[in-house]
Amino acid sequence: MNETIAGRVALVTGAANGIGRATALAFASSGYKVVVSDIDSQAGQATVALIEAAGGEAVFIRCDVSCDAEVRRLIEQTVATYGRLDCAFNNAGIEIEKCKLADGNEEVFDAIMGVNVKGVWLCMKYQIAVMLAQGGGSIVNTASVAGLIAAPKQSIYSASKHAVIGLTKTAAVEYARKNIRVNAVCPAVIDTEMYLRASTDDPKHVALVVAAHPIGRIGTVEEIAAAVLYLSGDSAGFTTGIALPVDGGLTAL
Ligand code: NAD
Repeated sequence: MNETIAGRVALVTGAANGIGRATALAFASSGYKVVVSDIDSQAGQATVALIEAAGGEAVFIRCDVSCDAEVRRLIEQTVATYGRLDCAFNNAGIEIEKCKLADGNEEVFDAIMGVNVKGVWLCMKYQIAVMLAQGGGSIVNTASVAGLIAAPKQSIYSASKHAVIGLTKTAAVEYARKNIRVNAVCPAVIDTEMYLRASTDDPKHVALVVAAHPIGRIGTVEEIAAAVLYLSGDSAGFTTGIALPVDGGLTAL
């Protein structure tokens, strides 16, 4: 274990599955104590079991990130458990069915914004308070390539991820002199349950999705975890307020 990481505490939301689980595992294997958080308690506990089986240290705290009282309690319990919060990965996010903008409805808009935007804002609000009190920390938020460019049939999701980048940049500037760095990671299509739910079995559709990535494949959860670990750690000490595409070249086209 890297000596500078010993004793550091990382919190991951949406850590029961996909990108969040892989990143929680990566934090733990680098030596961080990890708070695994999600609305799915069973799968969240399974992430903790995977970390412990690999010799790491973690605890599960259930939290719906769209609820102020639950996020406040999550951060309070994190500090009560491990005494501090060094790195936060605000990753919980949802995507609901795809449709063109004029076919969307208010219920879906509120649901997506509630988790993807309010959730990230609430998490940062309570995390930054702890980081200010302890003298610093770093935060990474999960945006998306849909936060950088248009995402046809995903207008609400795309708006929510553009908003995550706005929150990220503004918080980065507001707290830069307080030793708190805030960055976003922008994945393209990553092989997770979210991708599987949104895709079809049609080989033509799969081929189109793959072809959108100049690198010729979709990404892996480990590739996003590696980017988050870099942005969270001291090697990225001069990096704040960025929205880093991890996208196989998709946004370079
Ligand atoms: P996933 O569906 O596999 O995992 C998301 C996790 O978030 C789940 O464990 C779920 O239970 C949890 N969650 C959902 N609502 C929550 C809430 N209100 N409070 C707390 N937890 C909640 O998805 P994933 O692909 O791992 O996505 C993780 C993040 O990456 C999301 O923000 C998503 O928008 C983003 N993203 C994913 C892709 C992709 O292709 N998979 C691409 C770009 C961005």
